[in-house]
Amino acid sequence: MTNKVFFTPGPSELYPTVPQHMAAAMANKIGSISHRSQQFKDIYAHAVTGLRQLLQLPDNFEILLLSSANEIWERAIQNTVEQESFHLVNGSFSKRFYEISKELGRKATKHEVAFGEGFEVDQIEVPATAELVALVQNETSSGASLPVAAINALREKVGPEPLFFVDAVSSMPHPAFDYSKIDSVYFSVQKCFGLPAGLGVWILNERCIAKAEALQAKGLSVGSYHSIPSLLPKAKIFQTPETPNVLNIYLLGHVVEEMNKKGVDTLRQETEAKAKLIYDYIAGSENFEVAVQKESHRSATTIIANTKLPASEVIKRLAPFDMAVGSGYGSYKESQIRIANFPAHSLSQVQALVYKLKELVS
Ligand SMILES: *Cc1c(COP(=O)(O)O)cnc(C)c1O
Repeated sequence: MTNKVFFTPGPSELYPTVPQHMAAAMANKIGSISHRSQQFKDIYAHAVTGLRQLLQLPDNFEILLLSSANEIWERAIQNTVEQESFHLVNGSFSKRFYEISKELGRKATKHEVAFGEGFEVDQIEVPATAELVALVQNETSSGASLPVAAINALREKVGPEPLFFVDAVSSMPHPAFDYSKIDSVYFSVQKCFGLPAGLGVWILNERCIAKAEALQAKGLSVGSYHSIPSLLPKAKIFQTPETPNVLNIYLLGHVVEEMNKKGVDTLRQETEAKAKLIYDYIAGSENFEVAVQKESHRSATTIIANTKLPASEVIKRLAPFDMAVGSGYGSYKESQIRIANFPAHSLSQVQALVYKLKELVS
């Protein structure tokens, strides 16, 4: 038994009602039902209908359920890129998508800025030959985020042709996207949805579907069971091609239902209020400083601070008080800490964290 509160940026703290939904799932033997049964279709429909409402998704977008965001990267390239993708890179996750495109034999080009920096639209030149533009809305490794207004401005600049794919894995549902400006957005559930890992949610429009069908019609491979043409007809009848993560789809439906009861506007306001508390604390601390220089590029959901004390020491001091923050990513392991500010983290938990950090660190 542990009472630890995880402010780690993913996996993270579970949504507070997950244990009760887990118990109900066990009592109803959800793990044993057929994935072709009406009971499963209802579970699937509950999750995606709730997501449509929460994300205010237009009708031309479909929701597909896969296993992780890494998988969605691979499927995105296989299904929508014949030759060339273009990537905004400013940290480890955005770089990984770029590498996956190359590993799958595509030509991948990038606009890269330093770790911890955001992007300036007027400095981005997208090659006319790029079929997919990979945008990272929230770079979890560095805490730099891309405002929705910048995504919209980039679309204006680039024109309607290439598919815009947005990684919102560690921010959704905080950003209020203009869905007329993007073609796909995706996330995995162990970040902002407060669930155990093992589910990737891929949201895409009819242009992505048409591209996959065109590649397939040309005789090119778009993959097998998790290609868009294989996933889509199953999704329309609330099923998946394979035996899916039924338990997590069940939990997602219930967590999203609770998020909808609260309302997405309230969730967004709460996220911003908690982010302000954390950023204000960091700004006034003698040990920490905000890692992302430009204020408009600072993430509301994954907050990164440079730390004079080694991150491992900060983590050690918090441990007896049942609080865990994340260390820095990769080579920043000891020089930065990362604090997740997700819907599962209550205002009082964030206040308690800030209070303890002040007391234990300065
Ligand atoms: C965590 C994360 C991913 C990878 O998610 P998986 O579910 O582990 O595949 C991708 N992009 C961003 C921005 C992330 O934070």
